[in-house]
Amino acid sequence: MSTLLISHPCFLDHLTPIGHPERPDRLRAIDRVLEHERFQALERETAAMGTVEAIARAHPMAHVDRLYKAAPEEGLVRLDADTTLSPGSWEAALRGAGAACQAVDEVVTRKVSNAFVASRPPGHHAEHERAMGFCLFNNAAIAARHAQAVHGIGRVAIVDFDVHHGNGTQDIFWADPSVMYCSTHQMPLYPGSGAASERGEADTIVNVPLSAGDDGAIFREAVETGILPRLEAFKPELIIISAGFDAHARDPLGGLNLVEADFGWITRVLMDVADQHAGGRVVSLLEGGYDLEGLARSTAAHVMTLMTG
Ligand SMILES: [Zn+2]
Repeated sequence: MSTLLISHPCFLDHLTPIGHPERPDRLRAIDRVLEHERFQALERETAAMGTVEAIARAHPMAHVDRLYKAAPEEGLVRLDADTTLSPGSWEAALRGAGAACQAVDEVVTRKVSNAFVASRPPGHHAEHERAMGFCLFNNAAIAARHAQAVHGIGRVAIVDFDVHHGNGTQDIFWADPSVMYCSTHQMPLYPGSGAASERGEADTIVNVPLSAGDDGAIFREAVETGILPRLEAFKPELIIISAGFDAHARDPLGGLNLVEADFGWITRVLMDVADQHAGGRVVSLLEGGYDLEGLARSTAAHVMTLMTG
């Protein structure tokens, strides 16, 4: 079987202010590297429009309505210091959620072995009722709930190696024992949450904070000791990766020192867990990554590893 890549041109139409790190060029850099002939074997699909029904499994309708009404017809609207809406943002957000569900559909029905969604804006900072930190809808959360509601999947694990803590995903699944959320991230750093003591009401939140300057060896040990035993015990039936590449040493927003080989490594490790418990089912969703070269190289290592099935 093969690896699926889902994207859509509308993801370039979510605009942010000049100088903002979360910019359309991020996806252009990814598109360019994945055009290379070594990625020829990828199955490619364009992102479907997400449904309000799917989004409403992770966010209240009031949040969906608020974003819809706030989207401008021209110019930019600021939701907070970092998060903006442009005329193209609504469609990008809807298709980002749609692509995440589409990836779940294709992986769960065995059309492909695994899938990577190259979309923006990212999602893991979007809380149940609040857009923040460049994020509008929490795509990983929407995908997890979609897998459960539509495909009858029981236990879903979301593993997040973005340099920032996924406060939004943690918020949405804080009291949900059917979804395990595991995160490595730099602390202290935006958004401030993610201490190891934050464990959720059912002890299914697993936070493994790292310190500025930590490298791949420390990262790998943290994953092996802090996350893998918890995943093994949880036995997820589907693994969703919040694939942020801003823990790369080149990244301007993070202070960790990972290199692309580290992203290939964790991808392989998560695929092994999925092979053991989840029939190999892995859905990966792009989150952060703000140095274009580091982002492109890391995404290439990640997708190349997914393609080893
Ligand atoms: Zn990030």
